[in-house]
Parts: sequence; C-alpha cells; structure tokens
Amino acid sequence: MTEETRRDEIAAGLAGVEAQIAEACRASGRTREELTLVAVSKTYPASDVRLLAGLGVRDVGENRDQEAAVKARECAGLGLTWHFVGQLQTNKVRSVAGYADVVHSVDRPRLVAALGQEAVRAGREITCLVQVALDGDPRRGGARPADVAAVADAVAGAPGLRLGGVMAVAPLGEEPGRAFARLREIAQAVREAHPGADVISAGMSGDMSEAVANGATHLRVGTALLGRRKPFVR
Ligand SMILES: *Cc1c(COP(=O)(O)O)cnc(C)c1O
Repeated sequence: MTEETRRDEIAAGLAGVEAQIAEACRASGRTREELTLVAVSKTYPASDVRLLAGLGVRDVGENRDQEAAVKARECAGLGLTWHFVGQLQTNKVRSVAGYADVVHSVDRPRLVAALGQEAVRAGREITCLVQVALDGDPRRGGARPADVAAVADAVAGAPGLRLGGVMAVAPLGEEPGRAFARLREIAQAVREAHPGADVISAGMSGDMSEAVANGATHLRVGTALLGRRKPFVR
C-alpha cells in the first residue's frame, strides 16, 4: 500500500471516530473539548503514528513496552503525548518512564513506588491513572474498587508522579454503560480526596458512546482508527 492510500484510510477512520464522538456528545450534552482522543497504535508501525500526527492527533497509546519504546523513539520530535495503557511489570518501569507521559494502568503500590523512583531518576513527571478492575477481578490488570483509594493516595504522595484520575476497560459480559457508571462513582470519590484528579479514561472502539455518556474524558481507540489488528502471539 502506498503511503497516500494508507493516509486516506486512516483519515477515513478518524472521520468516522470523530462523527461517533460528536454524536455521543450531542446525546449526552457534552462538548468535544471535554474529550481527549488517544489513538492506540499497538501492532501498527511508526509510519502510521506519523500519519495520525499529520492528521492532527496529539495523543498516542501503546500497551507493550518493547514495541512502544521503539516507536516513541522513532516518533520523537512530533511533539506527541505518549500514553502507556497495558499491564505493566515492574521490570519494564525504567524503560516506560523514559517516554510515557501518562500511564493508565497503575494498579498496585509496588508499581507506584517503582514508577516514582524511575520518574525522578529520569527527571520527568509522569501522570498516573489508577486502573480499576470493574469486575472486581484484578487478574487482567486493575485494582479492586476497594483498593483504588489506597493506590490513588500512594500516587499522590510519590515524588515524580502526578495523580491524573482513573481508567478502566469494560468487563466482558456486562453492558458497558453499567460498568462505566460504576467507574464514574469511583472517579468521583477519587476526585473528592484529590481535587484535580479529573481524568476518566474509558471507552474503546466498541463502547465510546457509553463512555462519553458516563463522563469519560479520555477515549482509547485503536481498531476504529487504524483497522483490525492481526492476532499476535505474546
Ligand atoms: C488495545 C487497547 C485499546 C484499544 O482497543 P480498540 O478496541 O482497538 O479500540 C484500548 N485500551 C487498552 C487498554 C487496549 O489494550
């Protein structure tokens, strides 16, 4: 495929996503300015990230350090904000702290401590979102709702880190709107304890509208922008 064809493809994806966001905003009485679109570029090449940037996208998300580190390096100079959205092992924290501006998947005190230490070492400030396991099962990432306050407090008290708010993925087998309504309540409690921690990262290609209706501030969208990913083996 030529670069021009790919550009047209991505432009069409972006237009479709923007149309969905506009409709969701209209339906829930919100404005586009309240929302940040994070383009999740995992499995897609740095050339796609450049095309996205050329189309005005400023926020890019990745979920695996190995891939993200290379892409962030290749795209340095584009002035992008890099979001790390995947499960994060402490042995990857030093690398992630080198390029990530926002980490959406902070879910345990040990990870907070490691991120804070590496952010300070790198001389950077990293915005952290507390990931919530809305189904109460932390195995696929996220803190249990009952543990969110403690993780948020840890982030707020850690040098090098800034508490941005909360993040979640809608659990399988539950209507996303119901799940995101619970996230909104949890976000409210976090904000009461930490004024300014007003980010709600929720909503992916399949459930953007439900997320917007439930107060999301950040949408993490991959497939609807860039196309269906090829399955890959970890
Ligand atoms: C891949 C991914 C997304 C984007 O998902 P799509 O369904 O492709 O839009 C969002 N959030 C996280 C955490 C992801 O891993």
